[in-house]
Amino acid sequence: MTDGPSYGFDTLQIHAGARPDPATGARQVPIYQSTAFVFRDADHAAALFNLQEVGYIYSRLTNPTVAALQERIATLEGGVGAVCCSSGHAAQIMALFPLMGPGLNVVASSRLYGGTITQFSQTIKRFGWSATFVDMDDADAVKAAIDENTRAVFCEAIANPGGHITDLDMISAIADEAGIPLVVDNTSATPYLCRPIEHGATLVVHSTTKYLTGNGTVTGGCVVDSGKFDWAANDKFPSLSQPEPAYHGLKFAETFGPLAFTFHGIAIGLRDLGMTMNPQAAHYTLMGIETLSLRMDRHVENAVKVSGWLEKDDRIDYVTYAGLPSSPYNKLVPKICPRGAGALFTIAVKGGYDACIKLVDSLEIFSHVANLGDTRSLVIHSASTTHRQLTVEQQEAAGAGPNIVRISIGIEDADDLIADLDQALAKATA
Ligand SMILES: *Cc1c(COP(=O)(O)O)cnc(C)c1O
Repeated sequence: MTDGPSYGFDTLQIHAGARPDPATGARQVPIYQSTAFVFRDADHAAALFNLQEVGYIYSRLTNPTVAALQERIATLEGGVGAVCCSSGHAAQIMALFPLMGPGLNVVASSRLYGGTITQFSQTIKRFGWSATFVDMDDADAVKAAIDENTRAVFCEAIANPGGHITDLDMISAIADEAGIPLVVDNTSATPYLCRPIEHGATLVVHSTTKYLTGNGTVTGGCVVDSGKFDWAANDKFPSLSQPEPAYHGLKFAETFGPLAFTFHGIAIGLRDLGMTMNPQAAHYTLMGIETLSLRMDRHVENAVKVSGWLEKDDRIDYVTYAGLPSSPYNKLVPKICPRGAGALFTIAVKGGYDACIKLVDSLEIFSHVANLGDTRSLVIHSASTTHRQLTVEQQEAAGAGPNIVRISIGIEDADDLIADLDQALAKATA
């Protein structure tokens, strides 16, 4: 289909990027399970390798099934292009790689997915990059953290694990002022609930493992480019603005304009880092996205019901869901995620560590797993799992203290979820 601006989200989530297969008429996007693609002739091959013509060469770089998914996610996010890769963590490296270099830093939110905190505080140091963590509610702290070596600001739209909402308009204005891109992890919100590019984000990253696929089957990631950043405005982004030796001195920004970042992501990022999404994974994710809006509406409806019930229960100290009027982030919902605050939040359980362990062991519908954004309801007690190597002080700073359980509300019957929590809380606090 030709995606005109008149098509709504529900139409685009099914049709964007997909067209009947020209060879067979297959209506669903086929899984192009092929490593390589035949060149028409030697001139065609040369044009492809010179980036003078766009086409399929080898599946580490491009694959038709993956390309359909890239176009679909880019369309739903309102971007000009997207690069899919093997996981959400791969997407974060793919987003930062063209921007960063030894001695350079990213200013990142202190409220991020636990794995991202580890990737940014430990692993990227091996590349000579560093991260400065700040509270993104505090505009002055964000401004103060940016220095002449900062090349990106990074935050989550709806932050893991507490479901806190970031004021993206405020943060993008600060990044603009400093002349650097804002990268937003939109995994917990999805483009149905939040469209970061409309709030000034330059790049949007996803773990497609979560809500976009939605059924807990495959890992994947995606980087969407808004196409709005001028990489050649100064000399801060030489990978995009300066001649690229691996392509006879081609300058990505000059040659590809708004698509510079996307072309760089494929021609350099996937070619040389090789964090490629496979076509099977792309197929599962394409199928998942077809029902994204229906699932997200139900996720939100259930999260509102379950969090409201939990908040009133005296076995619970507090609930962090931004969709509750009691949340300090509730006032940001109409502006940042008008269709709802997602379905991810934490609860503080009276009785601390031991009660939390009993709770996760007594639940029957909820599964205790290190995942979120599934159709199934999921919980995790971070202090005894993902955050167990940290001190209690570090756990508390990360919103994952010993008394905290993270909940990802699924799309089952809300009454069944409440009954399950009720019986498990009874055992946990007996
Ligand atoms: C899961 C997750 C990631 C990492 O994604 P993977 O696909 O597991 O690599 C990054 N950010 C957020 C918000 C996540 O929930």
